[in-house]
Amino acid sequence: MAQMNVLVIGSGFAGLSAATHLAHLGYQVTLLEKNSTPGGRARKFDAEGFVFDMGPSWYWMPDVFDTYFSHFGKKTSDYYDLVRLDPSYTVVFGENDFVDIPADLGQFRDLMESFEPGVGPKLDEFLKQAAYKYKVGIQDLVYRPSRSLMEFTSPKLLLDMVRMDIFQSMSKHVRKFFTSEKIIRLMEFPVLFLGETAANIPALYSLMNYADIALGTWYPPGGMHKIIEGMVTLAEEKGVKFKYDAEVSHINVKNGKAESVVLVSGEKFEADIVVAGADYHHVETKLLAPEYRNYSDEYWDKRVMAPSSLLFYLGVDKKLNNLQHHNLFFDEPLGPHADAIYTNPRWPEKPLFYASVPSITDPTVAPEGKENLFLLVPLAPDLEDTEELREKYYNIIMDRLEKLTGQDVRNHIIYKRSYAHNDFKSDYNAFKGNAYGLANTLLQTAILKPSLKNKKVANLYYTGQLTVPGPGVPPSLISGHVVAKEVIKENNL
Ligand SMILES: Cc1cc2nc3c(=O)[nH]c(=O)nc-3n(C[C@H](O)[C@H](O)[C@H](O)COP(=O)(O)OP(=O)(O)OC[C@H]3O[C@@H](n4cnc5c(N)ncnc54)[C@H](O)[C@@H]3O)c2cc1C
Repeated sequence: MAQMNVLVIGSGFAGLSAATHLAHLGYQVTLLEKNSTPGGRARKFDAEGFVFDMGPSWYWMPDVFDTYFSHFGKKTSDYYDLVRLDPSYTVVFGENDFVDIPADLGQFRDLMESFEPGVGPKLDEFLKQAAYKYKVGIQDLVYRPSRSLMEFTSPKLLLDMVRMDIFQSMSKHVRKFFTSEKIIRLMEFPVLFLGETAANIPALYSLMNYADIALGTWYPPGGMHKIIEGMVTLAEEKGVKFKYDAEVSHINVKNGKAESVVLVSGEKFEADIVVAGADYHHVETKLLAPEYRNYSDEYWDKRVMAPSSLLFYLGVDKKLNNLQHHNLFFDEPLGPHADAIYTNPRWPEKPLFYASVPSITDPTVAPEGKENLFLLVPLAPDLEDTEELREKYYNIIMDRLEKLTGQDVRNHIIYKRSYAHNDFKSDYNAFKGNAYGLANTLLQTAILKPSLKNKKVANLYYTGQLTVPGPGVPPSLISGHVVAKEVIKENNL
């Protein structure tokens, strides 16, 4: 049986997933990664005794990770441990107005009743519908390659589509059930992960509320990077060869096929199949000659990108009070910040922000007696990014953090690194410096997303958060699986 050489570009969740699935089925897989460590947006770095996860910090949808490892006869626990966080997270609505979101469903229901008396049965119905959407959405729809409408035309699926609330906005859907502003904020928060406001996200994505409230928030001790380490170990067990510091500069196409890939260093790799897990826009516009691109510059300019972010990785020389592992600072209204991200792109006047303190759960990510603090402000992509602006926003959110939690933090920072648009561009070749890929709006869902297959180069495929099924760690894992299935279907060994 002839061996087929697959080159996978990029070692993010999607590239790792695609590479491992293909190696498992007997393809010879080489993974080319620009950076010197794996994980893409989910890399980590160590500094002065602190271990910082650079990107994702929320471990949601544990079943998706379990399914991933089960494809290879493995369990998640073969590679890393998991703990369920309780509280799942804290929402800061204002001074002395902190709400811990309990992991237990009964306690969560009681909390909602305290915001809106009598809301219990409505919450039950909301979650029942969300559970159904999760079942159909995450266990079926997201695994479809979305290359043709025909994939979605079975009578059962059409009926499901109606029940899935594709054509209603999330914000309308939530308001049908709830009137309390606090509950609405809580129910609308998870879709922010999908790169748009609730007004522009289909109500299908109340499945995220099921993930949040029913399935819970988990954490792998050691950090989110433990998932990447586990995936790399599994990939190596399957025979994937990793090449780091291997930035691809060009995909050579001959007779309608990608025949080789050339690195910036000049090294050349022959290919039978290429799976590009780097940002789709970068692959199209920088690695391929214009005649082989799927999409024009105008097409890309019209895409709604998910936000970028301003991040701070901070080492604190003391333990912090009044914070949990995950903390959402919703003490300012969402409207103006959302407007600054999606409608009139600018640095927001009064930003909402997120603080993660993993050292509260995990003593291994900070030296004893110290705290690992990660701050995130979601921002519009493609904004001007300067040191002065970063510092200005550091001071804005630090003032709020100190005031709301009632402590001095700034004077206890012993390590500080910032990260924003320019870093996303230089580290990951991210289009407009995006952090989370392409937004999951209705017009950018399923077959309306950039296709996972190149239409002019027969053996070139795409995976990752700019193609199907969308942004986030679980979708990226699924994206790698979906593309691997397409490769197998079209290039059977
Ligand atoms: C700050 C932040 C917080 C997030 N929080 C969460 C969260 O809490 N939960 C969640 O589920 N999701 C979260 N996400 C989203 C999630 O991290 C991403 O959706 C996911 O990691 C994307 O994986 P990917 O494989 O598509 O892309 P990437 O991780 O970007 O992988 C692409 C890889 O391609 C490489 N590459 C690029 N160009 C080249 C080239 N020319 N040659 C070779 N290699 C190249 C890059 O270096 C990179 O390693 C977050 C993202 C960010 C940035």
